[in-house]
Amino acid sequence: MTEWIPLYIPCPVSSISSTRSPCRYYHSDCGGSIRISTEVYLKCVNCGKCSHWKEWTFSCAEHSSIYKMINGKDFLNSLSIAMQPSGKDGGTMATMRQIIKKLMEEII
Ligand SMILES: [Zn+2]
Ligand SMILES: [Zn+2]
Repeated sequence: MTEWIPLYIPCPVSSISSTRSPCRYYHSDCGGSIRISTEVYLKCVNCGKCSHWKEWTFSCAEHSSIYKMINGKDFLNSLSIAMQPSGKDGGTMATMRQIIKKLMEEII
């Protein structure tokens, strides 16, 4: 069963971002918040846009008008960092582990 959780990771655009603390992401077209699935798809909860992570570009507070494609290694790194803070409930951690496993399968 595919599960969805809010995307809450450090910016995966490592080439221009140095921020390593997790943040939330919002769809540039409509402002809806972004969720990630255990199939490593991203979805906007407002307009319903849903596609594979490779088809999305990212910006963050450090480069708010610059949207960049991301690579699998940087994305994996961001997801791994996001796993570290304690305080997440067990369900979310298990889902994060599934997402990381799936992403590793895709990029190896
Ligand atoms: Zn949207
Ligand atoms: Zn960034």
